[in-house]
Amino acid sequence: MNFSTIDVSEVLFHHCQYHRKKVEAFIASTDAQSLSQLEAQVVQQHALDLLKDYLKRVQKATKSSSSEKPTLWSDDMIRQHVNTVDALCRAERELRYAAHAKEIFPLPTIVKGPDARREQQLQTRFAVARLLWLFQKKSEGRSTFPSSGTSPLRYDDAEWILDPDYQRLRLPDTHKFLLALNREVPMSLEWQAVLKLVGRITLAEHGFLDMACRLLVSQGMISKDVNKKVEHFTKSATMEAVLLGNPECTICTLAYSDAPRDDVEPAVKTCCGHYIGRNCLQAWIQSWENGQKEGVPKCPNCRSHLFCQIDMLPERLQPCVREYIAYLRSDPELDQQADSFLLAACEEEVDGCFDPSLGTMLARLYDRSIRIDELIGRLWDLVEIERTLWAI
Ligand SMILES: [Zn+2]
Ligand SMILES: [Zn+2]
Repeated sequence: MNFSTIDVSEVLFHHCQYHRKKVEAFIASTDAQSLSQLEAQVVQQHALDLLKDYLKRVQKATKSSSSEKPTLWSDDMIRQHVNTVDALCRAERELRYAAHAKEIFPLPTIVKGPDARREQQLQTRFAVARLLWLFQKKSEGRSTFPSSGTSPLRYDDAEWILDPDYQRLRLPDTHKFLLALNREVPMSLEWQAVLKLVGRITLAEHGFLDMACRLLVSQGMISKDVNKKVEHFTKSATMEAVLLGNPECTICTLAYSDAPRDDVEPAVKTCCGHYIGRNCLQAWIQSWENGQKEGVPKCPNCRSHLFCQIDMLPERLQPCVREYIAYLRSDPELDQQADSFLLAACEEEVDGCFDPSLGTMLARLYDRSIRIDELIGRLWDLVEIERTLWAI
């Protein structure tokens, strides 16, 4: 640490202390209910200005890497500052509603974990991935809810759009505010809650089978060997394919045959019921193993998980996984409501958050996220038991 860092950090520290007290006094003295509309608007602007100034300083302090982090900024201190910002956001919200003479509705109290910033980034990324997925399906004129078929999850083929650079590039201008880094004024509490809950639920919908499958592979419960995987997760089906009118491989167009020749290929049948040439399927899976493709291998025909079929998981896990997936699919109306909100949103329309139906939606999403957390917890316990049994 050099001298200039110490100087700047000390000045910052004292400035922030002063500012926090000012902000806290401001919150304590403000009674949103008794203000006239004009007064409320003035005070709201005042709150926003304070918030802007205040956040700039907190961000500067928390952004410095831990080796450079001045000792004055203990974790406790930072937490205290974050709490003040939260309180100010709540005050800002009350004032915003009072200024527009709208009835305020309660938002779910979301407990922030110890690693709130990273958690928030991850959740935002998943909410945005869901949004990009929705835009794509819309432009393709397809249904937004392909929850039927063998693919267990709705936002299944979205993993490639989780790349932050891709997200920034592809998100329409109307929605770019969702990714704005280092914002001077934090997002409204309504939007924070939407991103948090939708992101959490989307992550749960998207990621569980991938994660479980990876864990099973890493524990040796599913072979790493591509040829073995193909053997384990498919059935030889050359005769069946030909008899049912599938004479050739859909990838390389060689005729299906078990004859040991170079110009034909034996067929296999995947869990999702598609016929593919054995060699082509091996090469297809290999591109995931080499890291050329993200996520876990999917069927070239229908994009179902090739190895994550529920039937292929250890038997003890299956009922719990089925319950989990059934729960994820149990409220399409709520999903649709959340999707419509995301699609229609733009930053200037933050005032649109006044609609009390948003409060109802958030409360329902919150209950859902709690139940999902419970189910995931149970699933992980079972995976852990399987892992232990396997190790014996
Ligand atoms: Zn082939
Ligand atoms: Zn398939």
